[in-house]
Amino acid sequence: MSLPRTLFDDDHKLFRESAAAFVDRKIVPRREEMREARRIPKDLWTTAGEGGFLGVAVPEQYGGSDVDFRYNTIFNEELSRAGMAFSSSFTIHADVCAPYLTRLTTEEQKQRWLPRFCSGAMVTAIGMTEPEAGSDLQGLKTTARRDPAHPDEWLINGSKTFITNGAHADLVIVAARTATDPKGRGISLFAVEEGMEGFSRGRKLHKVGQHEADTAELFFENVRVTDDQLIGEVDRGFHHMMEHLAQERLGSAISNTAHAQHAFAITLDYIKSRKAFGRPVGTFQNSRFLAADLQTRLDVTQAFVDQCVAAHADGTLSAVDAAKAKWWSAEVQNVVIDACVQLHGGYGYMEEYEVAHAWMDARVTKIWAGSNEIMKEIIGRDLGLAEVRG
Ligand SMILES: Cc1cc2nc3c(=O)[nH]c(=O)nc-3n(C[C@H](O)[C@H](O)[C@H](O)COP(=O)(O)OP(=O)(O)OC[C@H]3O[C@@H](n4cnc5c(N)ncnc54)[C@H](O)[C@@H]3O)c2cc1C
Repeated sequence: MSLPRTLFDDDHKLFRESAAAFVDRKIVPRREEMREARRIPKDLWTTAGEGGFLGVAVPEQYGGSDVDFRYNTIFNEELSRAGMAFSSSFTIHADVCAPYLTRLTTEEQKQRWLPRFCSGAMVTAIGMTEPEAGSDLQGLKTTARRDPAHPDEWLINGSKTFITNGAHADLVIVAARTATDPKGRGISLFAVEEGMEGFSRGRKLHKVGQHEADTAELFFENVRVTDDQLIGEVDRGFHHMMEHLAQERLGSAISNTAHAQHAFAITLDYIKSRKAFGRPVGTFQNSRFLAADLQTRLDVTQAFVDQCVAAHADGTLSAVDAAKAKWWSAEVQNVVIDACVQLHGGYGYMEEYEVAHAWMDARVTKIWAGSNEIMKEIIGRDLGLAEVRG
């Protein structure tokens, strides 16, 4: 038995029941179809919208419910059970893009975008990474320049890569350089929308795992946007991104942990029934010790992630603690799921087995949303160990 989680009250528990029903009835039966199509169909977004899952961070007057972050946590955890592709696609929209569109936008923009955001009629993505700028976002090369002939208009040029929901997003928050500043201060954020001239999408990238999610390249060739598409302040985009990364990293930690918990649960069932040498493989001392090791790692990780969720719901989570939760949970997730494959034997390497998909899905969590190395940089610098250049 694990320690009871103390984060959730009765309302949260009811919400979990409806999130679990959405996942079990609407997602799980269609996983194979989505793996083949390499995308989440539009109708699943509107079903999620009808269920009230997309607008949890959006004020009620725009169609959301504006509830505390524990609700985002629950939706994320239930999605992670079905696969990392679902948690990443839906939470990029509902958790990662939401604060940009609720906190940095004008009243006119809120009215224009948020009702469709909550209903799922408009799917969002965020484009920071470029072919030559991933960890080092200050090096991004996409530009947005004022058109001298139309002073309230900008022309965006450049490209993005690895963008989750990129192939089908209706609105992409694009980070572009608006001034030359080596410390990244000259970056601004723009909403680029489907149908804008000069905005095109490249091929859907073929990932090792998370086949249900689309991940795409985006191209901008003289995409003309007015000031109405600017999100936040001019030249403050880097600051805006840094402000919101803690929540994104906590979201990763939540899904990493839930995903690994689920893989472990199905493995535990498996080793209780699979027999070798006339006995369940779970009864070998090695399996018992390994299971004990994995359960302990999961429990300890869950306790820290839950503490971070509580801190974030109270507005006190630091970027450093979010970084700790993100890298540690990714590490634990990968150790646990690799061991789960081992405990399944050859079946663990077969695509019909859920644990094989879990293993393929998990590898990227040590890389995306800030790699483990970058997370350790953040934590190390906070310990007063900044690099000395001599
Ligand atoms: C499936 C998937 C989905 C993604 N979704 C999105 C998305 O929706 N939006 C988006 O903007 N991006 C997205 N990304 C991009 C992701 O955030 C980047 O891949 C990630 O930040 C790493 O950047 P990079 O790939 O350029 O690697 P690089 O920055 O080239 O890093 C290569 C290696 O060098 C290490 N390294 C780099 N700098 C340092 C340093 N200072 N010290 C020590 N080691 C260092 C890294 O840790 C890594 O191991 C996605 C990526 C993937 C794979």
